[in-house]
Amino acid sequence: MDTLPTAATTPAPPAGGDARWVAVVGGGPAGLMAAETLARAGLVVRLYERMPSLGRRLLMAGRGGLNLTHSEPLPAFLARYGPAAGPVAAAVEAFPPADLVAWCEGLGQPTFVGSSGRVFPRALKASPLLRAWIARLQALGVAINLRHDWRGWDEGGRLLVAGPDGAVATLEPAATILALGGASWPRLGANGDWVAPLAAAGMAVTPLRPANCGFVVGWTRDFAARFQGQPLKTIALTLGARTVRGEAVVTATGIEGGAVYALSAPLRDTIATEGRACVAIDLKPDQPLDALAAKLAKALARPGASLATVLRKAAGLSPLAVNLLREAHGVALPREAGALAALVKAVPLTLLAAQPIARAISTAGGVNLGALDGSLMVRDRPGLFLSGEMLDWEAPTGGYLLQASFATGRAAARGVSAWLASR
Ligand SMILES: Cc1cc2nc3c(=O)[nH]c(=O)nc-3n(C[C@H](O)[C@H](O)[C@H](O)COP(=O)(O)OP(=O)(O)OC[C@H]3O[C@@H](n4cnc5c(N)ncnc54)[C@H](O)[C@@H]3O)c2cc1C
Repeated sequence: MDTLPTAATTPAPPAGGDARWVAVVGGGPAGLMAAETLARAGLVVRLYERMPSLGRRLLMAGRGGLNLTHSEPLPAFLARYGPAAGPVAAAVEAFPPADLVAWCEGLGQPTFVGSSGRVFPRALKASPLLRAWIARLQALGVAINLRHDWRGWDEGGRLLVAGPDGAVATLEPAATILALGGASWPRLGANGDWVAPLAAAGMAVTPLRPANCGFVVGWTRDFAARFQGQPLKTIALTLGARTVRGEAVVTATGIEGGAVYALSAPLRDTIATEGRACVAIDLKPDQPLDALAAKLAKALARPGASLATVLRKAAGLSPLAVNLLREAHGVALPREAGALAALVKAVPLTLLAAQPIARAISTAGGVNLGALDGSLMVRDRPGLFLSGEMLDWEAPTGGYLLQASFATGRAAARGVSAWLASR
């Protein structure tokens, strides 16, 4: 991961009672966007981040090229968040991909659209963007307090924040935005430990679950040892009526990768209700069944042809794919061309469990959206706004996660401005 300068801590916060003072807790994409939007609106912004530097998950996302957003038409884009994500989709609609691209370019980071329609910064990493962003925040007067850990509220509803020396300060901002992230990759800062204080404060929180995650498969020891880390390229994965194309990677304990992540929500939910999920892997999605069967029949007719050779040469399968067929089928493979082709086009694989949330790309569950009004303010707690991955929404990979995190940070900040102005 790239390292960034650790921005300095700042003077003591304004005294309680300053009607323009807003605390933002969490220095990821949602919190930073909230801080920028608030500062531009002329508010006094103090940002608190528990880690020694900002945006660690954003930097980690940058390792994969930093897929910022997606270029598909807005209605299709919004549909990725599902029918229940009302205020999240509304926030994205108000700050759509085109605005995110313009914002990114405003920070000196031009973008491009990849062949899959995904949008990346040309630098293909997050550190130049984050560096320019922190400089902008400082120029706007945002006070950045690193190594400051929010610990909930006291009986009077004041924020409790532990500083680097462990001393807990009591803060009384006019409004607060929490942007505390989910629970995946906890070493990057966000670990879901906010669930207890928010639940204790009466907020309904749907249990946090892995999203865009890998799954456990009961591989034999030999198969896992030989093939872990190897990709199954250009496959189609089917669960029930849903089929996705992409790539999957064999891991020591199971399977992960783009095609698996794309189905991970229904896979996870199926396992939760049925104890397991059975998928079918089409190893040759571009070959019609009949054509594949005809090729296999011709190759099998050759005297002395071994099945492995037939599958490699006539069907074009990799050694991993051939062994996956054997591993998944369990018994000897059929030598009849039609049955063999059918198997290649639908290898049955049983997934036993989702990988732990700590290894997932993102988090499902979080604070119920019903607890918030349209401006992302907690209905029962005026002046408290929430944003980012800590809210109960989920979306596939493809730039939808960052887009919603940026957009809800901005929406919460706009909500704060409007709420303060109305008082
Ligand atoms: C490996 C990986 C790759 C990814 N790649 C992509 C991608 O290419 N495209 C995409 O769209 N999404 C990607 N994501 C997802 C994306 O990074 C997240 O959805 C996004 O960062 C969520 O933003 P957030 O601000 O809500 O939370 P976070 O980025 O997690 O920020 C939350 C911040 O709050 C701080 N915090 C938490 N609790 C406290 C506390 N009590 N006191 C003070 N501070 C606290 C944390 O330290 C953290 O800095 C990826 C995620 C991972 C793990």
